[in-house]
Amino acid sequence: MNKLSISDIIEISIFDDYLIKLEKHNMLQKIKPSSSEDLTIADLGKKDQRLGLKCNYCSRFRYMATHRFPPETCVKEIAASLHCARCCSDDVETFPVTRNSENGYWPAESS
Ligand SMILES: [Zn+2]
Repeated sequence: MNKLSISDIIEISIFDDYLIKLEKHNMLQKIKPSSSEDLTIADLGKKDQRLGLKCNYCSRFRYMATHRFPPETCVKEIAASLHCARCCSDDVETFPVTRNSENGYWPAESS
């Protein structure tokens, strides 16, 4: 049992490094969902990322405060309990947002 869980941890950390390398090479810094399905609120803080909320119906984009979520909360699952404050659509997604790698700015919110 111990051996199994140790090898699991190694696999996760390799995957994490791979994700960080991918992000460093993403010069376009598009606002898009991460490929990581199990990213948590705690991961956002470690990677200097913010929690983005986007409506797929009207394209409203906002940042959300993360302090009200437990650290183990899955980033993608937050969207399931939300709707768009502008058009009331349930078709919203939550995802990590990174700074623009060239100028250090966060992508602008849009309504
Ligand atoms: Zn909307």
